[in-house]
Amino acid sequence: TQLSTGSKRTEIIALANQKGGVGKTTTTINLATALVAAKKKVLIVDMDPQGNASTGIGSARDNRDNSVYEVLMGEIEISQAIVESIVPGLSLVSSTVDLAGAELELVAESQRTYRLRKALQDPVIDQFDYVLIDCPPSLSLLTLNSLAAAHSVIVPLQCEFFALEGLSLLLRTIETVKANFNPALEIEGVVLTMFDGRNNLSGQVANDVRGHLGQKVFKTVIPRNVRISEAPSHGKPVLLYDYKCTGSQAYIRLASELLRRESVKAA
Ligand code: ADP
Ligand code: MG
Repeated sequence: TQLSTGSKRTEIIALANQKGGVGKTTTTINLATALVAAKKKVLIVDMDPQGNASTGIGSARDNRDNSVYEVLMGEIEISQAIVESIVPGLSLVSSTVDLAGAELELVAESQRTYRLRKALQDPVIDQFDYVLIDCPPSLSLLTLNSLAAAHSVIVPLQCEFFALEGLSLLLRTIETVKANFNPALEIEGVVLTMFDGRNNLSGQVANDVRGHLGQKVFKTVIPRNVRISEAPSHGKPVLLYDYKCTGSQAYIRLASELLRRESVKAA
C-alpha cells in the first residue's frame, strides 16, 4: 500500500480581541516567527489599518502599494500582495491606512464579509503551513472578514479587571459568526498576555479564565517583558531582537504548544 503524502491543509488562524493593546499584534508577529523557527512556512495578513504587524516585521510604510486593501477591493490578486519580511521564511500581506476606508467602500458590495476568505482560496496560499491574521481592535467588517476566513481563532487576553466581560462579548461574536458566516470556525485557544506574577490581580484573572474555559486556555502564559515592548521600535520581532529574553522563550513555548495541539487533532 502507498503511504500518504502527508499533505496538510493550510491552517488559517485569526488573532482577535475587540480591545486594543492586549497583545494581538505582538502575538501574531512572535508566534509567526517561532513557527518559522520550527520550520513552518508562515504568512501574516495584517488586517489592522494601523499596520503595526507590517511595521513590526520590517515593512517600510512607503513601500506598501500592493496591500490587503487592494486585495479586499478586488483590484489585485493576493499573490501580488505577498512580500517577504525581515524574517526569512515569514511572508506578509501588509496593511495601509486606506484599509480604514474599506469598511464604507464595501458596504454596498455583495459578499462583503467573504472578501478575505475568497482571496485566501487562491492556490498560492497552499505553500504556507500557517496563515495568521492580525485583526483590528474592533468588531468591524474587517474583523468579520477575518473570522469568516479563518479555521480558528486565538484570543490574546490581558490579565486585567474587565478581561472576562470583554471575553464574553467576543465569544458571543464568534458564535454569531459561526451561525451566520462560518459554521466550521473553532476557538483554538485563549492566550494570557502581559502576565505579571507580582500582581495578585493577574493571577486571579488567570484562574477565573481557566475556570471558565478550561483546556481552551493555552498553558503557556506570556509574561510582561520590557524586551517585547522595545522590539517593535527596531522593526523586529522580539525573537530576532533578543532571543534569550523571557518574552521570546514564552513565544517559542506557545508555538510548540500550538504544534502539539495540531498533531493531537490530526491523530
Ligand atoms: P494589540 O495588537 O492588541 O493592540 P499590541 O500587541 O500592539 O496589542 O500590544 C500593545 C502594546 O503592549 C505594545 O506597545 C506592545 O509592545 C506591548 N506589549 C505587548 N505584549 C507585551 C508583553 N508581553 N510585555 C510587555 N509589553 C508588551
Ligand atoms: Mg494590533
